[in-house]
Formats: sequence, structure tokens, C-alpha cells
Amino acid sequence: MVDTLTSNADATPEINTRLWSTLIRNLTPYTPGEQPKHDNLCKLNTNENPFPPSPKVAEAIAQVLLNQADHLKRYPAPESDELRAVMAQVYQVAPNQIFVGNGSDEVLAHIFACFFVKDRSVLTPDIGYSFYPVYADTFHVNLVTIALKADFSIDVDDYRRPCSGIIIANPNAPTGVLLPLADIEKLLQEHRNAVIVIDEAYIDFADTPNASAVSLIDKYDNLVVTQTFSKSRSLAGLRVGMAFANHSLIEALNRYKNSFNSYPLDRLAQAGAVASLQDNDYFVACNQKVIALRHDVTQALTQLGFTVLPSQANFVFAKPPASMGETIQVFEKLREQGVIVRHFNKPKISSYLRITIGTAEQNQRLLDTLTNLF
Ligand SMILES: *Cc1c(COP(=O)(O)O)cnc(C)c1O
Repeated sequence: MVDTLTSNADATPEINTRLWSTLIRNLTPYTPGEQPKHDNLCKLNTNENPFPPSPKVAEAIAQVLLNQADHLKRYPAPESDELRAVMAQVYQVAPNQIFVGNGSDEVLAHIFACFFVKDRSVLTPDIGYSFYPVYADTFHVNLVTIALKADFSIDVDDYRRPCSGIIIANPNAPTGVLLPLADIEKLLQEHRNAVIVIDEAYIDFADTPNASAVSLIDKYDNLVVTQTFSKSRSLAGLRVGMAFANHSLIEALNRYKNSFNSYPLDRLAQAGAVASLQDNDYFVACNQKVIALRHDVTQALTQLGFTVLPSQANFVFAKPPASMGETIQVFEKLREQGVIVRHFNKPKISSYLRITIGTAEQNQRLLDTLTNLF
């Protein structure tokens, strides 16, 4: 099975970098989790939602294709006005406090370009979303890492130093550990002249609905909160992400966007995203299922001897018991059985596996495979 998983790298012709700019030569791009095209796989490696998106999403997109296909010849709304209006209602903010982009990765890249001052430091935890160092390279930002505590939590007192910005994923990736809102507020107060970015890609999976920092954007003009439709709205394939902030920061993002690509969201994505927002019952029900499954998986893994960090996301970060041998071997053995999880070969976290919460059946397959192997 392993053979069918490897990519056809052999077929790639040799690359000639003669005409490349220095910028491109020096970039080390982000490596997303693999998307193998094999059927009988239990894919728990990229934190996608195990459940499909609301059926209303496909209906809305089909509606555009069937009844308004002619509209596809026209450019979409450049500022996604309808989407932002619906979003404003759902998130209880003003439309001019919302920026939308082609996935939150794009929104985050714009944030690096707009707010993080070249050559001045931007602080981020030493264990965090691995796209941040890539953006830092792209935009020549001096990203300074601050060590997490031994329990993988963030101590905001460690961030008391001059900087032009701070960026933290909350819940953190790949640990799933949540930073309480009171700590975020402390950061905002201590750094009034730095932009504080809270990347809430997983916030909808928190046990408490009040964990989001979006509620603070009126109070702090230096706060940017990003979220995405990729995880909690099961729409990773649609590419919709957003930022919430004071309208002055949003205007900066608009200026940048309009100097880059005026139409980041196509008509189908805008229609699908609106439909997803309008089906709130489905959204809430799905998230509650994932949260319940996370509790089940945490308990089961703990019973198998794993050390599982307290996760508020749709994945768990877990260390296999010593009796299972090296973590990389556990990863490889699971992979041979078609169960794909994520392993980061990096200091401090190489003994952990990041396991996406799947359906009850997928989770059971993971647990059965572990039980049978060890
Ligand atoms: C998945 C993820 C994102 C990006 O999501 P998009 O699919 O680009 O919207 C951003 N931040 C973190 C921490 C993530 O895990």
C-alpha cells in the first residue's frame, strides 16, 4: 500500500533556477499534509472536517450554475458585499470590520504584508502554525519565537518585549491548546502599538462558545482575528477565510488586496459561503458532534497509554506510550495500515502525533489499528 502512496516525483523534470529572483531562490515553501488518492485510507492528517458541508451550500452553488450561469461571464463582487453583510449579522460586527480572502492563508499573508514592519520583530510561539515562518521569509519579517511552557501552554508574560506584532494560533496548532481570552486581552493592553493577530482557524471547536477574540475588536484597535470556512464549516475545498478587525486595519487589507488581486472570491465561493452561514443549525450540530468525538478519542487514546494534550480543536496532539517504540515508527506502522496521521520531525514535538478527529468509524479504525499493532 505504501508504494501507491508515494508521489510520482520521478516524473518531474529537473528544475533550472537560472531565471529565478533571489526572493524565490531563498523561499522554503509550506508543505501541506499529503492528499493521497487512494480509496481505503483513513485520512486523519490535514484537520479537514469529517462531515460534509451543509447541503444548502451545494444547493446555492447549483443555483448559480443552473439559473445564473450567464452571470459567470461577469466578475464577482470584488468586496464580497453580500457575504460580508451576512457575516456581519452572524458575528455581530459591522461589515466594514470584515475582510474576506481566498482561504485564511491568503488573509494571513496579507496581514504579514500590511502590518508587520520589515526588520522589526514579530513574536510567535516556538511551536505554532508552520506557515508563519514562510510568510515571514516572503515578507522579510523578523519572526522571533518565544518558547512555550513545558505543558505547551503560552505564558503571555514572556511576550513583554518590543515588537511590531504578535501572531498566535488559538487554539494553537499543532497542539490544540487554548489561550484564555483574559490572556489575549493582557497582550492587547501591553502592546497598544503592535498589531496582535489571533488565528482562530479552530475556535469553533472550543468547548465554550465565548472563547473567540472577535468580541474584542471594538475595544482594541490593534487586534486582528482570522477565521476560516475550511475546518468548522467543512469547506476547505471552497477557499474562504476572513479577518475581523477595526475598520482602519480592514481598510489596509483592502488596499493591499486591491493592489494584488481584486477578486479573491469567485461567485460560486461567495454563494456557497453565504449558504453555509445561513444554515447555523447544521453548523452548530456538526461542531458539537466533532467536540463529542474529540472527547471520545481523547479518552480512548489515554486508555491506550497515550499522553493527550487538552485540545480545543478538531484534532488531538498525542504522545504514544514508550511501549509502542519511537513515535515515527508508530506513524509509519499506522501508515502501512492506511491510517494517515501527521508527524512533525521537529525539536520538542517529534514524539507527538497530530491526529485529526474523524467520523466515529474512522476513529474506531485508528484505535483498532493501534490495538492490533501494539
Ligand atoms: C488550516 C489553518 C489555516 C488556513 O486555513 P485556510 O484553509 O487557508 O482557510 C490557518 N491557520 C491555521 C492555524 C490552520 O490550521
